[in-house]
This record gives sequence, structure tokens and C-alpha cells, in this order.
Amino acid sequence: MLALVKAEAGPGLRLETVPEPEIGINDVLIRVRKTGICGTDLHIESWDPWAAKTIKPPLIVGHEFVGDVVDVGSNVSDFHPGDLVSGEGHVVCGRCRHCLAGQRHLCPNTVGLGVGRAGAFAEFVALPMTNIWHHWPGIDEEVAAIFDPFGNAVHTALAFPVLGEDVLVVGAGPIGLMATAIVRHAGARYVVVSEPNEFRRGLAARMGANVVLDPRQRDLKDVQRQLGMVEGFDVALEMSGVEVALQGAVASMAHGGRIAILGIPTKDMSLDVNTIVFNQLTLRGIYGREMYETWYKMTVMLQSGLDIKPAITHRFPFREFEAAFAAASSGDSGKVLMTWLD
Ligand code: NAD
Ligand code: ZN
Repeated sequence: MLALVKAEAGPGLRLETVPEPEIGINDVLIRVRKTGICGTDLHIESWDPWAAKTIKPPLIVGHEFVGDVVDVGSNVSDFHPGDLVSGEGHVVCGRCRHCLAGQRHLCPNTVGLGVGRAGAFAEFVALPMTNIWHHWPGIDEEVAAIFDPFGNAVHTALAFPVLGEDVLVVGAGPIGLMATAIVRHAGARYVVVSEPNEFRRGLAARMGANVVLDPRQRDLKDVQRQLGMVEGFDVALEMSGVEVALQGAVASMAHGGRIAILGIPTKDMSLDVNTIVFNQLTLRGIYGREMYETWYKMTVMLQSGLDIKPAITHRFPFREFEAAFAAASSGDSGKVLMTWLD
């Protein structure tokens, strides 16, 4: 089969012919239809310090996908050839305290698809049956391809109650864009999105933001005055991984405000702990998705009218992967898809 491979330590990816994955008795083999490019894939492609520390080449990369089941192991009875499925990209151990308690997103032994094991930027991918999500009828195939980052957005956006609340979304990358639509759908009063990139600010407005701002040009306090907010944001979703952005969120919260942090910083950050203490803020780290409550919520919110499709801006055949990666890293894009099978 053809697959996008990090062949050796260093920048770049290669489209190579590699053996199809073999499946064990508990595994499912999937013919990949569409994949999404994640920031993680960009880090691996460019071979930044995180990738150099984490990735052991050769490795098939990629973890956001939708495809059809083509074969199952002898223990598998819930999945059948032809089923349209996506994969939960975090493969957990199933045996630790958290896994046994049904809190699989907390597993300390998590292995990432396309990070610690062969990934989904390939014609075929294999995963344990416990990592397969069977799509419900009527789910758009392009949206199905990005259930993994959509799940990051849902997990973060619903970490704290947002009904009637004023919500700040910090960073309008693909995940911040989806989170904007989710908190709007979930009944927030005002949704304010802070994002330096003009193209992404335009998308954020389409996803339902009341106000979008360039944090280099405009102060959050000014936006709060414009909206008639008396104190500060009730909830903030940190989706940039940028120090000044999180500092700005901490400084703009109402007393008792809550900040869900998804963005992954590339270096240590300093925070104003006095403000966190005296304003009694809650900061919560978010990683991955809840298995499978988040997947259920994604599905039923789509069924009840949530539209995240405008966050998908570019589509390429997999053979044009270099153009796809360039679009994803340009910043002037939302989610970038690659098609493996039409
Ligand atoms: P992205 O890099 O495309 O988006 C980040 C956005 O933040 C960009 O649009 C950037 O312009 C913006 N930004 C930069 N400086 C800013 C500032 N000062 N104020 C406001 N915005 C600013 O990433 P993404 O794919 O949307 O993912 C969002 C974040 O979540 C990334 O940090 C990513 O690494 C992280 N992530 C975490 C998990 C997890 O499980 N915790 C999973 C996936 C991604
Ligand atoms: Zn575990």
C-alpha cells in the first residue's frame, strides 16, 4: 500500500510503498477514505524539537481519518466490512486504574496513532476494536474525517457549563474555530474570539463569534465594554499554546471564572498566580477526548444542528501531500483534508 512515512530523523515526509498492516484477533482493518492534517503532523513533518524527542522513524504518520472496515480479527463481532468508521487516536492500556474505572482519557500509558504506532496517512490502517467509532447514519464524510480534533474542541468547550455565559476563545485554528461553533450551539451569551490571523478571524465570525479581535490591535477590556459585560469572561478556552494569550485570558476573567487549556506551549510559561488566587479562577488541562462520551456528544450535536463544516477550507488528493502540508502550515487555512479514496 501507499503511505506517508517519516523515513528518517529530519524534515520532510515520503510517499512510500509499505506492507499493509497485519491485524491481531482484536483488531479492525480500515480502508482510509479521507484524512485531516493536524498540527502534530506539521511538527513531525518539520522535525521540530518535540518530534525529534518523540518520534522513532520509520513511522507512518497521521491520526485524523474516516474509512471503511475491510477486515476484522476473530474476536471482533461489532464491526463488519463496509461499516463507515473513524478511529480514536489514543490507544490506551485497558488495565490501569483509570481505564478500569472507565476514565480512559486519563490513561497514563496512552500511545498515539501516527505518533507511537503506525498512523492513518495510508491506504489502510489497523486499530484495536476498542478504538473504533462506528459513524451514525447521516454524518457528513468530511466531518467524519475530523472527529478526532472535533472531539478536542467538544471536550474543551464542554469542560465547563457555557449556557448563558460569556466565553472567550483564544486562538482560531481549526480547533478554536470548531469550539466557537460548539459554545454558540451550547447556548453561550457572547462568544469572543481572539486571533491574530485575518483569514481565521473571518472564519471565526462565520462560526458564530459575536466579536472577533486581533489581540495585537485591541484590548479584551475594550471588547468587554463594547458588549456591556460588567465583570469579565465566565469561561475561556485556551487554544493557542501562546504565553501572552493565556496571560491575557487570566487577566480578563470574572471572579470564579474557568479556563480550559487545550493549547500546547512549546516552552514554559509564567502566570499571574495572584490573580488566579484572588479571583478564584479554575484552570483545567484538556487532553484528547473522553472515550466515548465526547464522540457521542459530537454526533448528537451534529444531529441537532451544529455545523462545523466551514472550518474545513482545503482538500487535496494524497499524492499532492506537499501542497496540503503547505496549506496547513500557511496559517491562511482552517482544516486541510487529504483524500485517499473517492
Ligand atoms: P493552530 O496552531 O492551528 O491554532 C492556534 C492559533 O492560535 C493560530 O491560529 C494562531 O494564529 C493563534 N494565536 C497565536 N498567537 C495568539 C495570541 N496571542 N492570541 C490568540 N491567538 C493566537 O492549532 P489547532 O490545530 O487549532 O490546535 C490548537 C492548540 O491545541 C494547539 O496548541 C495544538 O497544539 C493544541 N492541541 C492540543 C490537543 C490536546 O489534546 N491537548 C490536541 C490537539 C491540538
Ligand atoms: Zn490505561
